[in-house]
Amino acid sequence: MTTVGQPLVSARGVRKQFGPLQVLKGVDLDVHPGEVVVILGPSGSGKSTFLRCVNHLERIDAGSITVDGELVGYEQRGGRIHRLPERRIARTRRQIGMVFQHFNLFPHLTVLGNVIEAPVGVLREPKAEVVERARALLDKVGLADKADSYPRQLSGGQQQRVAIARALAMRPKLMLFDEPTSALDPELVGEVLGTMRDLAADGLTMVVVTHEISFAREVADRVVFMDGGTIVESGTPAEVLDRPANPRTRAFLARFL
Ligand code: ADP
Ligand code: MG
Repeated sequence: MTTVGQPLVSARGVRKQFGPLQVLKGVDLDVHPGEVVVILGPSGSGKSTFLRCVNHLERIDAGSITVDGELVGYEQRGGRIHRLPERRIARTRRQIGMVFQHFNLFPHLTVLGNVIEAPVGVLREPKAEVVERARALLDKVGLADKADSYPRQLSGGQQQRVAIARALAMRPKLMLFDEPTSALDPELVGEVLGTMRDLAADGLTMVVVTHEISFAREVADRVVFMDGGTIVESGTPAEVLDRPANPRTRAFLARFL
């Protein structure tokens, strides 16, 4: 993976606190186009908060995040930094797809209905075009034959693959995954990781929070280990997973042996 050129995501000194709790204590991370970055780290280390900051769901207190060269949540005007109004934030958020542990599909819509909902309802794209794209995406995630099913008729793994197709239907520049397989029965984890592996092979830029070490090893271009609100180690999968330099990384990985 080459890392020349402008990063798609660039985080510098990102800080975020909730009341007295300092959750992010200066996070620096670059993600280049086409790169897959896996974030590992213990529960409570700030992984979800960081993804939420990248996706404008939380406003950072200090530092900066840019996505495709644009500041997230702020703008520079007249030499000063201003908070962006919510309306503008919502618009930039559409360029980023996010997949959570809990898929939250619309229960009253079919699979196809779920996938086309935002492009048609929010972006006002022509329905026929979106349906065509949605069918291609459902084919991509292996669910072409489920287009007319309802979420309750699907397994958890199938529902999560619909959630991935739904996010992709917005044609995001970047996909964020927050423990997408953590809520699944073990036998369903593989199909979701397989879909994510296919997306990575297609060149999609992805940031993935997961505890699936084998996925990190096989798919990630870079693995970062987060602990206590900072990135304490970053490198290739071989560097971080096989030869971790930091004792906290070593202690964390020892749990998976
Ligand atoms: P991780 O995803 O690594 O498990 P999180 O980013 O979810 O960690 O949480 C980091 C810390 O921030 C935790 O202590 C959590 O309780 C706290 N936290 C997260 N979101 C909020 C919030 N909205 N209000 C208060 N505390 C929060
Ligand atoms: Mg989390």
